[in-house]
Amino acid sequence: MLVVHKYGGTSVGDLDRIENVANRVAKAREAGNDIVVVVSAMSGETNKLIGYAEHFTSTPAKKELDMLLSSGERVTAALLSIALQSKGFDAVAMTGRQAGIVTDDTHTYARIETIDPTAMHNAIDEGKVVVVAGFQGINKDGSVTTLGRGGSDLSAVALAGALKADQCEIYSDVDGIYTTDPRIEPNAKKLDTISYDEMLELSSLGAKVLQNRSVELAKKLGVKLYAKSSFSDNEGTLISEENDNMEEVLVSGVVLDKNQARVTLRGVSDRPGIAAEIFTKLASENINVDIIIQNVGTDGATNLGFTVPQSEHENAKKVMAGFDHDIEGMDFDEHVCKVSVVGVGMKSHSGVAATAFRVLADNNINIQMISTSEIKVSMVIDEKYGELAIRTLHEAYELDK
Ligand code: ADP
Ligand code: ASP
Ligand code: MG
Repeated sequence: MLVVHKYGGTSVGDLDRIENVANRVAKAREAGNDIVVVVSAMSGETNKLIGYAEHFTSTPAKKELDMLLSSGERVTAALLSIALQSKGFDAVAMTGRQAGIVTDDTHTYARIETIDPTAMHNAIDEGKVVVVAGFQGINKDGSVTTLGRGGSDLSAVALAGALKADQCEIYSDVDGIYTTDPRIEPNAKKLDTISYDEMLELSSLGAKVLQNRSVELAKKLGVKLYAKSSFSDNEGTLISEENDNMEEVLVSGVVLDKNQARVTLRGVSDRPGIAAEIFTKLASENINVDIIIQNVGTDGATNLGFTVPQSEHENAKKVMAGFDHDIEGMDFDEHVCKVSVVGVGMKSHSGVAATAFRVLADNNINIQMISTSEIKVSMVIDEKYGELAIRTLHEAYELDK
């Protein structure tokens, strides 16, 4: 069997932990499997490197940032390979480029375009464990690119797809996907399986246990994906195509996204094209807009609200200042969060949203914005009630049972 393992920052956080990973890889190898390992930088390393760059300027060039940040993963890849060799295993460390990963030009958030797995296949055929530095590739000009925060998950899934691996195992400090972040709700329960679509919602809505683009790609390529712990031998969670059993479960998880800021525009000229102008301008500044609501206009004006990531809040303010003449008043609130309820069972059951609204009302939590899809309900609320909302929703849907 050919298996791709991915070890995140906490799992390779110091030399003892790298040794622990080497032992786990060795065990899988001894069981007769071919192994490709993708590693993250040691925990805290990427943030430290960003801090170094910001010592000189708050706006470092993204191309140089990629050069800098990609080094974190290279350190761990080399060290893990050395650790494996010291145990008598044949291993080779590769950068993203050496592993054949070519991306587009979007520095710090590049998209993988092609992967040539020849070098990896050759090394595997020679009996080597291949250790790849995650989170990186090169563009057509040969410049190093990185894949966005948490991007080693994406490297692992993409390599599993390109290598036609039998499965991809993502190792972190939790032993699977839980009904909510176990750090917020200790009664959260581990799920045996979850569908790609639900997992994609959970990741996109803020559960960082798997990077959302990696889940999207796993679904597209049909990669059999497991979330497991590098600190235990517990079963883990299988992320796969939806099946009938899954639909019987009404809600699979609740998730909190603290990285939200709300923009409210009052008295926006109610004319064709205004929304297009506002959101085109925001997009051109690479500001990711999430929930959008607009009411029916009265007296030639309407109200429009949307959310952006907190980190883009100041940028959004600047962009909106350019629309002064079309808007009576603007309101910016950094202190909001988004709580979401996710489950494929919602497709065939009613009342899930009503329960969520009732639970928040009973706790005196005001809902500022609502957005729904076939399998989720999201609500924007005051940031100080985020964790309370998660715990009470978790209980209301009996996720602890
Ligand atoms: P790594 O550094 O290995 O990539 P991450 O820190 O990105 O690991 O992801 C693991 C963390 O995800 C856990 O420590 C946990 O707090 C968090 N998490 C958030 N939501 C969930 C969830 N629904 N199930 C499991 N873990 C979750
Ligand atoms: N080291 C990168 C980050 O911290 C990528 C990763 O860990 O997946 O975002
Ligand atoms: Mg991660």
